[in-house]
Amino acid sequence: MKALVLGSGGREHALAWKLLASPQIQEVMCVPGNGGTATLPGCRNLGLSLNDFEGIARVALVNNLSLVVVGPEQPLADGITDYLQQQGLKVFGPSQAGAQIEASKAWAKELMMEAGIPTATSEVFTELAPAIAYLEQQPLPIVIKADGLAAGKGVTVAQTREEAIAAVQEAFQGKFGTAGDRVVIEAYLTGQEASVLAVTDGETIIPLMPAQDHKQIGEGDTGPNTGGMGAYAPTPVVTPEILDTIQTQILEPAIAVLKQRGIDYRGVLYAGLMISPNGDPLVIEFNCRFGDPETQVVLPLLETPLDEILLACAEKRLADLPPLRWKPASAACVVAAAEGYPDQYLKGMVIEGLEAAAEQGAVVFHAGTQLHQGQVKASGGRVLTVTALGETFDQALETAYAAIAKIQFESMYYRRDIGFRIR
Ligand code: ATP
Repeated sequence: MKALVLGSGGREHALAWKLLASPQIQEVMCVPGNGGTATLPGCRNLGLSLNDFEGIARVALVNNLSLVVVGPEQPLADGITDYLQQQGLKVFGPSQAGAQIEASKAWAKELMMEAGIPTATSEVFTELAPAIAYLEQQPLPIVIKADGLAAGKGVTVAQTREEAIAAVQEAFQGKFGTAGDRVVIEAYLTGQEASVLAVTDGETIIPLMPAQDHKQIGEGDTGPNTGGMGAYAPTPVVTPEILDTIQTQILEPAIAVLKQRGIDYRGVLYAGLMISPNGDPLVIEFNCRFGDPETQVVLPLLETPLDEILLACAEKRLADLPPLRWKPASAACVVAAAEGYPDQYLKGMVIEGLEAAAEQGAVVFHAGTQLHQGQVKASGGRVLTVTALGETFDQALETAYAAIAKIQFESMYYRRDIGFRIR
C-alpha cells in the first residue's frame, strides 16, 4: 500500500516515518515534504504546491495511492478533502465544513456552547464600540482572539484594558487580514495547558496519548508564542480520570454536534486544553489536524500501525478497530529553531551532525529544512525536532538533549528547559 502525506513540517516527517514503519506500507509520497522526507528511505517528495488540488489528485490516482493524509490546517480550510473525496480518494482530514472548528474561533465557540463543552466565557464582535464597552465590564487579564487562521499570532493575552483595546483595534484594522474581521473576547483561564489529539471517523472518537507543548520561545515560558518549542507525552497533568472527562464531556459531545450539523468529520480533532488547578479540563481551542510538535512525541509511542488507524477513520470503521496499543515509555522532544524566530531569522545554513544525533538513540524529525545538492539546509524558523523515548521522562529528555548537542547550524537556538514542569 502507498500513501500520500501533505505538508512540510516536523509533523509531516513524523507521519511519513510512522506510516513507513507499518508492514503494509511500501511507499510514502510527500507534497511538498522537506529535507527529512527527502532522505527518509521509502519516501519521495513531489514538486507540487499544496494549492494544486488537481495536481495532487492526479498524482494520487495515477500512483494508486490508498490514503491521503492532510497535515496542515490551511488546505483543510480550503476544502482539499472535499475535492479529493470527489475524485474517489480516501482522505484522512476533515471536510471544509469540519475544518471551521479551527478556521473560525467564533464558530468553534458556538459549537462548544451548543454541545455544553466546558470553555472560557466569551463574546464575538464585529465592531469596535461594542467590543470596548464589553471590555470595560470584564476582569483582567483578558484574551483577544482574531476569529480566523492567523498562524498562531492572532491571540493576545492582555494585562491591561489599553492593551486589550489596542489588540481589538489592530484586528479590525486588518492586521490579520480577513481573519480579524471578527474578534472573540474571552475570559482568562488559569492552570496547565495540555493537548489531546483524538482520531475520529465522525462517529467514534479515540484520544491518543495526551501531550504538553512549550509554546513560548524563551526558557521559563517567556517571550512570544511560537508554533511550539518542545513537548512530551504522556503528560502526567492529564490523569486517566481527567482523560475520561475529556472523552465524555468534550470529545464525544463535539462529534455529536458536528454530526447533528451534517458534518462527517474524519481526521484529528485536537483539543487544546487548560487543566484548571482543581483538575477540570476546559477547551482553549480546537484544531482540525495533528499538532506540531505533539505529533513528534505521540507517534513514536504508538505501537498500532498508523495506517490501520488513519484508514479506519477514512473508511468510517473506527469502532471495529481493536484498542490502540502503546509503548510503555515516555517521549520528549526539543525543537531547534533559527535564532530570531518567531520574527526575522536566517535561512540557508548547512546543518551538520544529524547522523551523530541519531547515534545517540534519538529520532531527528526535520521541519524547516531542504535537501540542496546533497546538503541539508535550514529553510524555516523551526528547523528540527529531536525526539527520544525513555523509561522515564528524565531519560527521554537526557537522550534528546545529548542528541541535539551533536547538531550544529549557524544561529541554532533551542530551549534548555523542556520538561521543567515534570522534572
Ligand atoms: P495555535 O498556536 O495553537 O495555532 P491559536 O493562535 O489558534 O494557537 P489559541 O490556542 O486559542 O490560539 O491561543 C494561543 C495561546 O494563548 C494558548 O496556547 C494559551 O497559551 C493562550 N490562551 C488562549 N486563550 C486563553 C485563555 N482563555 N486563557 C488563558 N490563556 C489563553
